[in-house]
This record gives sequence, C-alpha cells and structure tokens, in this order.
Amino acid sequence: MDGSWYNVLMTDCIFCKIVAGEIPSYKIYEDEKYLAFLDIMPWCEGHTLVIPKQHVQWVWDYENVGEYFEVVRKIAKHLGRVSGEEVVRSNIDGWEVPHAHIHVKPGKNNGMKGEQIAPEEMEKIRAKFTMLS
Ligand SMILES: [Zn+2]
Repeated sequence: MDGSWYNVLMTDCIFCKIVAGEIPSYKIYEDEKYLAFLDIMPWCEGHTLVIPKQHVQWVWDYENVGEYFEVVRKIAKHLGRVSGEEVVRSNIDGWEVPHAHIHVKPGKNNGMKGEQIAPEEMEKIRAKFTMLS
C-alpha cells in the first residue's frame, strides 16, 4: 500500500480522513497499522476508539483481527492504569461510521453523556491518556 489508496476509494470515510491527517483528532496511540483517538462524543473520560488504518467496514472483516485485539488490549490496560479504574468497558457497534472501530471506556460512569465537550478539555484528556511521546 502506498498511502494513496484511501484517497481513491474512501473519500467520504471520516476515519480514513483522520488516518490521512485531513481531519484533526485527539490521538493517543499510533503505529504502522493502527490508530487510537478520543471519541469526540465521550461517555466517560478517556473514551477511545481504536481503528485499523486499512479501511474495512466491520471489525470482523479485518484480515488480522487477533493482532487488532492485541493492540486494543494494550490500550485498554493503559487506560485502566492511567484512570485508576478497575473496570475498562469495550464495545463494538459499528454503524455510526462505516470503518471498523472498537470503543474502549475506562470506568463505569463518570457523568459524561455522549455529548461534545470543549476542545481545551479534550486536549487535557488527550495529554493525560496519550501513549505517544
Ligand atoms: Zn475508512
């Protein structure tokens, strides 16, 4: 893959645009194949989406779902450690954006309602949870 595939095929996919850097995001983890960033409509502090950079619609379509889950586990453990929460929830819905993504949410509930919060607050949360140096 030379990096231009998504421009040709997936011009309307918001997550492909995030991967390409065309839309800003609050990234907390990135490697060659995966990206994790804060959900902009968080249900808790640290609510993160983990995606493969390759565009597939469903998690179950991704070629190496085992490797994908290893990355999700690494991030979930990190979110639990940083938040101090014992519970780290996760769910796979998938209809909101047609690009595979896994929600990871530290804690049971801390009062957030899935609504957008101020950019300064998002940046503070990103700084707290980032795994990027
Ligand atoms: Zn996509």
